[in-house]
Order: sequence, then C-alpha cells, then structure tokens
Amino acid sequence: MKQSVLSSAHVRAAIVEIQLDGVPKIRRSTKFCLQFGGRHFPPKYVLELALNKATGKSLLPSEHSGGDETNRRLAALGFQISECVCGGIPDQAIARIVIDGHPIGDFLSGEKMEKVAENILLDTFKAWPPDRSARFLITPGGFLKSELPAGLSGRSGWNSVDEDFALIQRAAEKVVRRVVTPNVLRHARNKVASITIGIDLSDSARTPAELVAFTYFRWLHPPMDGQVLPDTVSGKRVDPGFGS
Ligand SMILES: [Zn+2]
Repeated sequence: MKQSVLSSAHVRAAIVEIQLDGVPKIRRSTKFCLQFGGRHFPPKYVLELALNKATGKSLLPSEHSGGDETNRRLAALGFQISECVCGGIPDQAIARIVIDGHPIGDFLSGEKMEKVAENILLDTFKAWPPDRSARFLITPGGFLKSELPAGLSGRSGWNSVDEDFALIQRAAEKVVRRVVTPNVLRHARNKVASITIGIDLSDSARTPAELVAFTYFRWLHPPMDGQVLPDTVSGKRVDPGFGS
C-alpha cells in the first residue's frame, strides 16, 4: 500500500463524506476522536476513507489498527486527535435557506420565479463554507408556487385520495426540475446530500392549496417520495424562515 500519497486534502475529503453520509454504527470510535471544525469524527474510519481516496483501494478495518498507528498518521497531517468517548458521530447537519422578505412566489411566478429560485440555490452553494457539508438543505415553505393540476377530486386533508397525490406530485415535480437544474446539482455536490423544496400549489381561486416537500437525494441515493402535508390551507402565510 502506498501510504506516502496520503495528504490532508484526502482526510478533509473523507470528513466531508462523513458529514454527508454519517458514520455506520459499527464504525464509531471508542477511545479517540478526530476534531475538525468543532465536530468529532472516528479516526480509524476517517483514515480508511481518506486512504481510499488517495489510493483508489479499499482498506478493510481488519487490515489496520486504530489507536496509536492511526492517530499518529492523522496527527502528522495536522489533524487534532484527542481522547473522547462520544463515538465520533458528527451532527447530522441541516442547512436552512432563510429569505429576508416575502416568499418569491408572492411577487413572481412562472419562469421569473423559477430563475430567481434557481439563483438563490446557486448563490447558496457559491457562498458555502469550505470543508462543511450537510445532510439536508431546507428551503422555506412555499419557496416555489404553482397551480394545482386539472382533474383533482376536490377532497383535501385526511380525505385526500391517492390519485390526487399522483397528479399533484407530477405538477410539482415539473416546477422543481426547472429550479433544481443540473447546474444546481453540480454546485450541490459534496455540500449537501439532499435538498428539500417547499412548494405550494393552488388553483385560480387560490383555494385549496397543498404544500409539497420534495427531496432530491444525492446521486448515491434514490429520490425519496414527495410528501403532501394535509390540511394546508391557501392564504395561510408560511414563515419564510421556516423549512417545511
Ligand atoms: Zn468525540
């Protein structure tokens, strides 16, 4: 194994990966933690991921020992290791976009709203702090607005019917796909594992409306189902600082 190629950049990349994907239960640390950016990580697992990035090869837990050997290598690259029994499980970070002012959909619609929303996401990723990543990025409720599709049953809340959900999901997905563009996904890479998009749909009379939250999981994971939150009534202002 070519150990000499391992650099601090590989270790930082491993840390980013752990922030995105978490630490498998059996890979938690028992005696030591690597501390980085105010968070704790399991040294042995970090080293394995970092070596994999450096060499392209997978190192099995049984092929190297934790403790001193691992700690020395990480410390030699400038990382802080200390005795700790927390297990090295970093917070499952959630990043939230807070919009100062009215929801975009209050003053824009259609393509203009979509462009502004896309730019908010792009600006978010461009301003992203280095070496940090989050499991979820949450947009405000009603981040996007659109019209309810035709053909709905007219029932709502807990009386909703599955067929309505399929129609609403398709309508919402069309809008979300125009905002969460390949460009946005490119900029999201290694920063967030998933994005939730708050989207309100209403008809021309603006009643009733549904709030649909969409989650886009990162290339590694299949997309999650959208979710219709019951009993969301049109006209009810959603605090733009809150994720749905
Ligand atoms: Zn710890």
